[in-house]
Amino acid sequence: MTSDEPPSENVARHSEPAQAWVPPEPVSLRVIAGMPASPGMVIAPLFCFRAELLAVEDEPGEPAAERLRLDRIIAEAHAELQRLSDDADACPGPAHAGIFKAHQALLADPELLAEVGALIDENHGAPWSWQQIIDRRVDAVGRSQNERLAGHAVDLTDIGQRVLRLFSGVVKHGPELPPGEWILAADDLAPSDMIRLDAKRIVGLCTASGGPTSHTAIIARARGIPAVVAAGSDVFSLTTGAPAILDGDAGRLYPNADQGSLASARAFQADLARRQALADAGRFRPALLTDGHRVEIGANIGAVDEASSAVDAGAESVGLLRTEFLFLCRENAPAEEEQFLAYTGIMHALGGRPLIIRTFDVGGDKVAPYLDLAKEENPFLGMRGVRLSLRHVDVFKIQLRAIYRAVATAGAGAVKIMFPMVTTLEDFRAAKALAETVRAGLGAPACDVGMMIEVPSAALMAREFAREADFFSIGTNDLTQYALAIDREHPELGKEADALHPAVLRLVDQAVRGAGAEGKWVGVCGGAASDLLGAMILTGLGVTELSTSVPALANVKACLRGHSLTALRGLARRALACSTAAEVRALSV
Ligand code: PEP
Ligand code: MG
Repeated sequence: MTSDEPPSENVARHSEPAQAWVPPEPVSLRVIAGMPASPGMVIAPLFCFRAELLAVEDEPGEPAAERLRLDRIIAEAHAELQRLSDDADACPGPAHAGIFKAHQALLADPELLAEVGALIDENHGAPWSWQQIIDRRVDAVGRSQNERLAGHAVDLTDIGQRVLRLFSGVVKHGPELPPGEWILAADDLAPSDMIRLDAKRIVGLCTASGGPTSHTAIIARARGIPAVVAAGSDVFSLTTGAPAILDGDAGRLYPNADQGSLASARAFQADLARRQALADAGRFRPALLTDGHRVEIGANIGAVDEASSAVDAGAESVGLLRTEFLFLCRENAPAEEEQFLAYTGIMHALGGRPLIIRTFDVGGDKVAPYLDLAKEENPFLGMRGVRLSLRHVDVFKIQLRAIYRAVATAGAGAVKIMFPMVTTLEDFRAAKALAETVRAGLGAPACDVGMMIEVPSAALMAREFAREADFFSIGTNDLTQYALAIDREHPELGKEADALHPAVLRLVDQAVRGAGAEGKWVGVCGGAASDLLGAMILTGLGVTELSTSVPALANVKACLRGHSLTALRGLARRALACSTAAEVRALSV
């Protein structure tokens, strides 16, 4: 797993890499395998839900009147989404309201409306014309193997159904659960269904489609609901009421669990909870190895309110602030003042702890409509990260101004700037020069300017980069996808994109050596830092700062405290010598 998402509350994790739960022998338990989308293990009966899709017949009408009808219903849908978005703002995390804003943007898509209008002009009724165009679009994206596009199909269906319901005056019914706790099994849930889910009733989620970055997965993680996605059509063969075990870390659902398996899973759960409690108790202590070596443990955050959760979880710093949260799902780029308030708000919550602000990493799967990005065949190989920022200097400069104003209010060394997706020295130099111009213009104090190592070229040229960058932070999520040529969101191959593959570790090693030769420090903010075996190997490779997901933080600290640097160096050497990711995964200290 490569993603590190907002904190989830009821995640039972552990402070030593442990085997995943396996059903006791000789029982052969049925297993439905999907993709891990939200961690944790839960045991509860299954509730199976299949949404009935509304369909309308064509009732031809007079085009001008039908167009007016369409406009009226679209306006109503827009207002409904606005209400949902306002309600969702009350939920923690930025993802919720953003979903409805993205739906509003879909509703306003001029191409979509023009296509519907063209059918109306052929004397078809407005509801039927709308349904036709939505169905065509869903079909087109549904045929794609790409998980991100598959997620888009869910959004299109959701918005399509919302408008059809308004045309027909039908009231929507999502899953209505009887009292008690349930694991919900469904095709995929519309974002509007997800947002209404009661985390007390729905303790686990398994969907036939979707992917680990779909809205379903994002909301499940934000609410701490263990989830498995992309489990396939087997999900439709399940029966409501059967006792089940859902393992969100392994991406598995065991329906119809027998008594022996249930008892074994409960014992496993209790063991995880016990270890978690131990790790939590020591979360404010540093990650001091047994021979006195200290590793700085920071947190990755992507929203203002996550800064205080990070501090509560024991974070000594924020090693990665994903500033994209300010740039996505909106119609205009964020203003300088809005950004300044967000950055200083986070600094305030951190109470003087160091903060690394990564400039916006838009592009790839992160879309910002106001940047007018052209459609690309391979967006992950196209305009993203610092490449894109350098082509939108106006937006980039505003962000840099907001950051340097925040630097001016911070204590010395408290704020650092980091550029994402740096591939060439030319791009790094251009970004750094722009930052310097902005800084000088404001008369702000200088701060460290570093870069992410997320592309093999940057790792291979680390020595040259280290002469000009103040620090590196390795983004193993992207480094893995680019080193292994596996789309990090690929529904089938995503599982093979293991950040502990020796090829990735050798790139990390090269980056650490390059930085060391120039006296620069290296951190890791990719998912490998939140993986306990990963944290140990990275420490052994010489990384001095690990920035983890908030839920993983206490466990990473507890895990490192149990070992010496000498032992972890030995582990790292053995990992570098491995031939496969599986060999690395089989290592122990
Ligand atoms: C990474 O690529 O490892 C990283 C931390 O950046 P992101 O996950 O935001 O792409
Ligand atoms: Mg990245």
